[in-house]
Amino acid sequence: MRTFTSDLARFSGHQFTRRVVYPMAGVMVVMIAVVISFIVLSSRQQNALEVAESTRLATTALQVKAREVGRNLRDYTIRPDVYENIHDGIDLGWAVTEGNLGANIYDDLGYELVFAVTSKDRTIYSLVNGAPDKVDALTVMPRGLRDLLHVAAIQPEPTTSLIKSGNDVFVVAANAILPPSIDRSTVNSRDLTMLVFAKKLDQKFLDQMGHDYLLNGLSISAGDHRVLEAFIPLMTQNRVPLGAISWTPRKPGNQLLNFIVLPLAIALVILAAFAILVVRNARRSTIALQESATHVTHLAHHDFLTSLPNRVLFRERLDIAIAQPPERSNGLSVICLDLDNFKEVNDSLGHGAGDQLLQQVAERLLGCIGHNDTVARLGGDEFAVIQMGMNQPHDAEALSRKLIECVRTSFVIEDQELHIGVSIGIALAGAERGNPERLLKNADIALYRAKQGGRATYRIFEAQMDAELQERRGLEYDLRQAVLKGELELHYQPLIDLEKREVAAVEALVRWRHPTRGLVSPADFIPLAEETGLIIAIGEWVLETACTQALSWDQLRIAVNLSPVQFRNRELVETVHQVLQRTGLDPARLELEITESVLINDAAAALEILNGLKGLGVKIAMDDFGTGYSSLGYLNSFPFDKIKIDKSFIGDLSDTEKSGAIVKSVIGLGQSLNMVTTAEGVETVEQAAFLRQQGCDQVQGFYFSKPVEAAELSLFVARWRAENEGLGGTAEAA
Ligand code: C2E
Ligand code: MG
Ligand code: MG
Repeated sequence: MRTFTSDLARFSGHQFTRRVVYPMAGVMVVMIAVVISFIVLSSRQQNALEVAESTRLATTALQVKAREVGRNLRDYTIRPDVYENIHDGIDLGWAVTEGNLGANIYDDLGYELVFAVTSKDRTIYSLVNGAPDKVDALTVMPRGLRDLLHVAAIQPEPTTSLIKSGNDVFVVAANAILPPSIDRSTVNSRDLTMLVFAKKLDQKFLDQMGHDYLLNGLSISAGDHRVLEAFIPLMTQNRVPLGAISWTPRKPGNQLLNFIVLPLAIALVILAAFAILVVRNARRSTIALQESATHVTHLAHHDFLTSLPNRVLFRERLDIAIAQPPERSNGLSVICLDLDNFKEVNDSLGHGAGDQLLQQVAERLLGCIGHNDTVARLGGDEFAVIQMGMNQPHDAEALSRKLIECVRTSFVIEDQELHIGVSIGIALAGAERGNPERLLKNADIALYRAKQGGRATYRIFEAQMDAELQERRGLEYDLRQAVLKGELELHYQPLIDLEKREVAAVEALVRWRHPTRGLVSPADFIPLAEETGLIIAIGEWVLETACTQALSWDQLRIAVNLSPVQFRNRELVETVHQVLQRTGLDPARLELEITESVLINDAAAALEILNGLKGLGVKIAMDDFGTGYSSLGYLNSFPFDKIKIDKSFIGDLSDTEKSGAIVKSVIGLGQSLNMVTTAEGVETVEQAAFLRQQGCDQVQGFYFSKPVEAAELSLFVARWRAENEGLGGTAEAA
């Protein structure tokens, strides 16, 4: 099953870098590149716009200049005196001396060259820098001027062009000298004289132009102007290239860049730092999250106390093991373990000690299994092993013996040496391959049988165990129903006082009248009732029924058996007290029978309860004496009023001398401890005689009466009294 946490746990730091850092860094780089490109492009565009604008201005400047030259020229060509004085020749007196067309043109208007040229291209007047000269106009401007003159000859307005002279470029304007007063159509164009003004595009001119139009670094370049940043090409009218005017354009884009670069760099550094910080934090929290996810996954699959795999992981591994090819999974076995007496350790030493014990057990189990095997804690004191054996059932049995030995060795907890055992159930995969649930259940059934078989042992699951368990389940169900439906009844067996020859007491023995099985013996259902806890309810019912019944038999004591399970219940004293109150029976008439097992587990607690019961005024009898540990110490330390010698010794009386010796010594012991002795299971007159001879106080057995229903017992008592009245004290009477 995939979960968020298991996915996260698999998400390594490396993957984080691959899946988060790289894409983020990529996105950031692209973003930054886009921003920078945008800024660079727009600065370039700004620069280009500026170049275009300055080009437009420079072009305009040149055109304005050309128009101005034309206008200045026209001021002269329309003058009648110019027309009159310049024709085939020129009157130098009028022109130079009188100053009509002399130095003033250079001084005031700044034209370096002035020519008057006839229609036959003959220069009749030249002014160079304001001084008359003999130079031929077409020689000074060998290219371009002739064409200009021809075009200008047929145009009423001045015609301008750029013309090169030597290394210099001039703005040249030409116009026929023809005052408006003369009708042009009457004049033969061959008779027209052209006046030419030329303005040199020198540095002074450029500086002025730069000043007027806010252009920097204007210069004339003759070379390849394609390398220039900003220029306007200079061409004649016929588009003959003469060079270019170039300038240094302003670069508002660069200014923008300069302005923006520092803040942008700072912003990028901050952004990068922030991104690194964010990524680092994200990475840290992812790793922390991942660690806690790993931890959670571990917790979900491991037992908190022992760190062994838990039931969930156990099942996962079992599923995987079972899914293996048959040659491997055939050797698979599931081994269930349950500690013996763990509850006692827990109850007597506390949960802390119990936990330590479980941890030590877990370590030992781990040390026993093979490296392909799994040991898990399923809960409480239950463990389980998946064994990948080769040779079954041999391997599983060998491992089980090893595990039992491992646990049998004593543990030291809180400076105390503890001995516990482990019971083991084995299920081999062979039969149940493919069904992990069933396999685990089978191992559990086998474990149950091991427990029943005396603990610290193992059992291998067999099919009939299941049937038996089903049977037991059915019985358990029936027993619950029996308690509810009142199918339980009490039979009573008398205890005869040998000395007084009277019925001293009656023992209440429970029976189950099963609708189909008939009368079921307590030996068959009391253990089940004890295991299931039903004994508490049954015990209370027995006690109450017996006490109530006893009221109808005046003076007779009533003996009631108590189970060790009832004895473990701290409310026992209170229960007995309440039953006595409810029924009103004199406590002195109630005898409670307990077995030695009650004392073994927790002697101190048992003593407390026994004293509590004694405090109520009831009598306590030690039942089945001789079958358990039979520690004489018990008799001394616990407040017993009676010892009931187990019927097995009485049955053996005629066969072995040993039993006779034991019975004798127990009777002697009872006498010396001032306890009443009762012999159970007296079936023959010989046994009764022997017991009487040995000084046994009371006898109980089929020889006198089997356990019978209350009414029958009343008849027995009446008959007994009738037959034995006044016979007390005679040995023969038995
Ligand atoms: P127990 O307390 O030792 O009871 C005496 C048992 O010996 C009774 O068996 C009785 O029928 C049997 N018995 C009596 N005389 C003879 C005899 O001469 N020969 C033979 N062979 N047996 C004789 P029962 O009634 O089957 O009870 C068996 C055990 O079940 C009892 O042993 C007692 O430990 C337990 N038990 C019976 N009733 C109750 C009960 O109400 N509560 C609890 N906790 N245990 C009970
Ligand atoms: Mg008894
Ligand atoms: Mg008994």
